[in-house]
Amino acid sequence: MDRPVSADLFTGQMLHRALENLYDLAATGCLLSEEEFLERYDNSWETVSHANLVVYDLAQSVEHYIKLGRDSLQKYYRSHAPFDDGVTLGVEKRLTFTLDEERGYKIVAIIDRLRRRDDGVVEIIDYKFSKGIPSQKDLERNPQMALYQMAVQESWPQYENIVVKQIFLRQGEEFSAKLSPDLLDEARYQAVQDILEIKRALSENEFPTKESPLCKRCPYFSLCPAKRHRLALDDETTAEEELLDAQKKAERYLQLSTESRTIKAELDALKEELLFVAAKENLRTIEGEQGRIKIGSAQKGFPSKSRDLQKFLKISELVRKSEMADVFLDLNEKAAYKDGFLTEKFPQETLDAMRECIIETRKPSLSVSYNKKGAAGTQAPDGSEKD
Ligand code: SF4
Repeated sequence: MDRPVSADLFTGQMLHRALENLYDLAATGCLLSEEEFLERYDNSWETVSHANLVVYDLAQSVEHYIKLGRDSLQKYYRSHAPFDDGVTLGVEKRLTFTLDEERGYKIVAIIDRLRRRDDGVVEIIDYKFSKGIPSQKDLERNPQMALYQMAVQESWPQYENIVVKQIFLRQGEEFSAKLSPDLLDEARYQAVQDILEIKRALSENEFPTKESPLCKRCPYFSLCPAKRHRLALDDETTAEEELLDAQKKAERYLQLSTESRTIKAELDALKEELLFVAAKENLRTIEGEQGRIKIGSAQKGFPSKSRDLQKFLKISELVRKSEMADVFLDLNEKAAYKDGFLTEKFPQETLDAMRECIIETRKPSLSVSYNKKGAAGTQAPDGSEKD
């Protein structure tokens, strides 16, 4: 351990080692007693330096995790002794399998324990030392377990009846699931996509950070570009001028962002009010003291699929049934409106039915022009096109 590592993660590894040792010995006919088993676990900690173990939960200590690990093992021993349930096919079993034949992608799976039960079912067992437990649905969709199953199926095609099992050592809970072929296909597809993404990142030397609650247990925390600035600022002895200056600039940017959001909200509200008055009083220009605001026309058309699915489907159906079906085979609602409806290329009956599907696709725009004195040119404050 030459890098800081989270104490609970490391305890999980110690439990894996203890169970590996237990089953390896059991396979040779040497069954450890509960005392011997726990004593070996206690001894394994004696050679470990606690210096690099990081406890992220401030209310806890390394000793807490060591004891939690011991209690978990004891629970496991008591509920599984004498460990003669079926045949252990492998412990920490390393299996290489082909993920994608065409691209030559192979994956190495290391399975905590593989056993064939007395009823012939093969169990892929994964030990967990996490705080929480998953729902049954989570396990049934678990891509890690799906990859393990692919590895077992490739190594032993004769095993047809396979289940995956996760054993939560802290809680003493076990969950099993039979994975669907669809999930296996999905997991294979996703794993290939992930590899392609990693290859792209490698070739472009671009590794975007992905922050999550797991960051606090990440061994690369101190090297991470998403965390380095905070770490540097917290350490006053090393904070460089440039990094301090960046903090000031970030502060100003945040402030202006907030202000611009407030301004934008006010502009949007004013725009609504101006459009309302313009429609009510039939105005195309509204005068102010500094200048004038022109009201552009609203745009009409057929809705997109995401805007109004029902109307979109109705238009699709009308186009399909019309004599213009060949022209608008791949329906593009804009083309159907502009090149078909407005130019009246569809039969009259279709045009009448289509009329009911027309919506306002864009609100009327506002554009402003300032009087010459103190003029600032002509702009559209809401980002819309100037008339
Ligand atoms: S600390 Fe950085 S590298 Fe580690 S998980 Fe978080 S974002 Fe990823």
